[in-house]
Amino acid sequence: MENPKIKLLYIAGSGRSGTTMLARLLGELDGFVNVGEAARYLFDAPMQARQVPCGCGRAVSQCAFWKEKVQAIAPELAERGAAVVRMRKFASLLMASGGTNAPKQYRPILEAVTAVYRKVAAETGCKVIVDSSKNPANALLLSLASGIDLHVLHVVRNPHNVVASWARKKGYLATHPAKKVVAWWWSYNLLSELLRLKAQSYQLLRYEDFVRDPAACLQRAAAAVVDLAPSADFLVGSEATVRMQHVLAGNPDKLDSGKIRISDGNGGAAGSRSWAVNLTTLPLQLRYKYWPATRGPILRPTSTTSSI
Ligand SMILES: [Zn+2]
Repeated sequence: MENPKIKLLYIAGSGRSGTTMLARLLGELDGFVNVGEAARYLFDAPMQARQVPCGCGRAVSQCAFWKEKVQAIAPELAERGAAVVRMRKFASLLMASGGTNAPKQYRPILEAVTAVYRKVAAETGCKVIVDSSKNPANALLLSLASGIDLHVLHVVRNPHNVVASWARKKGYLATHPAKKVVAWWWSYNLLSELLRLKAQSYQLLRYEDFVRDPAACLQRAAAAVVDLAPSADFLVGSEATVRMQHVLAGNPDKLDSGKIRISDGNGGAAGSRSWAVNLTTLPLQLRYKYWPATRGPILRPTSTTSSI
């Protein structure tokens, strides 16, 4: 009998948009397992060389959960995968995804990543795998895998807060200037929107709306993938109790466990560059209803699937 498809909830969007936090909380739902940025990590030799630890705190090469799964992907295949998921390859991937079968050159990469997800599902018994690799090109590649049922959760965050977050050193993550961050914010968000053409389901969620009502947003995101959203009883208001998770890459906050607070910590921190950020992001700020500034929820959790 043919293997059932793996249900994958892929979190897309630009970096520092709260994707690590969202993935962690989704991974606490019954039947869901968070693998962090596995799709990205498996094909990112520089990141592997930097020895970014697993969420359990061990080096990936020492983590019993990941060690063999990562080693199973030969370095030359990892290199080929890395070349395919570059953002500038998005257009050719989109063209390639028009047919009923994945083009031959992508098949070994797709088989390798599907095999990793299958092992995760078999070992954990989960119904849904949550991958927060963010990169829309990576998600597009995964949409070509015949063994994967791709669901996309596109997370956006106010660009002022994204710029402020990248300006601050955080653990093993580098800082980046506003100009570069704004370019990423544009490209990652616009290309993530195109994933609605290829995914089984696509949802848009503003991080700020998630912070206002985390439990409702989590359950809505989960309900797109499973018939009945599991309880989010590990969440009380803005406080969550989380366990250790074996997650690859992502924000160093993943190393904390126990009680964590959900907040939008960089609010109002854009400083003197804010006029430049407004000028360069205005069309998308209008699209995502960040500008003009308003108070209170704009996109309620119940409207996260609306097209805006
Ligand atoms: Zn681990």
